[in-house]
Amino acid sequence: MNKYDIAVIGSGPGGFTAAVRAVQLGAKVAVIEKSFTGGTCLNCGCIPTKFLWQALKTKQKIQKSYEYGFKAVLEPVIFANIIAKKDRNIANIRKGMEMILSSHKLDV
Ligand SMILES: Cc1cc2nc3c(=O)[nH]c(=O)nc-3n(C[C@H](O)[C@H](O)[C@H](O)COP(=O)(O)OP(=O)(O)OC[C@H]3O[C@@H](n4cnc5c(N)ncnc54)[C@H](O)[C@@H]3O)c2cc1C
Repeated sequence: MNKYDIAVIGSGPGGFTAAVRAVQLGAKVAVIEKSFTGGTCLNCGCIPTKFLWQALKTKQKIQKSYEYGFKAVLEPVIFANIIAKKDRNIANIRKGMEMILSSHKLDV
């Protein structure tokens, strides 16, 4: 059985940072996560909302580009493609966070 100095519940911005810092200070740390690494912020909060916001701004820019002399035609938006791209970006960031956790020898 493994023994730990600290158990951090949750791997959102709070838990992730606390766990990594505790390891840096010499503690043996376990992270307990019931869902996805990254917590609310990465998986259903800050990152997805900013991605969708940016997608909408891009659509509006294309639609208004005629004001600058462009002749752009916007095909109907395929929302599933936007969601798929969002999910890929989030998965990449999550993979990066998981690599940081494992490189700090954190047990999740
Ligand atoms: C729609 C939305 C948009 C947002 N946009 C922004 C923004 O632009 N900028 C900003 O600064 N903040 C934003 N926030 C707020 C931000 O997401 C939170 O402040 C941040 O995620 C809090 O981090 P946290 O680590 O405290 O908790 P969380 O990110 O909620 O992480 C908690 C983690 O603990 C896990 N957990 C909970 N209970 C248990 C348990 N009993 N056992 C095991 N695991 C458990 C959860 O699965 C989760 O992964 C947004 C939030 C939402 C909902």
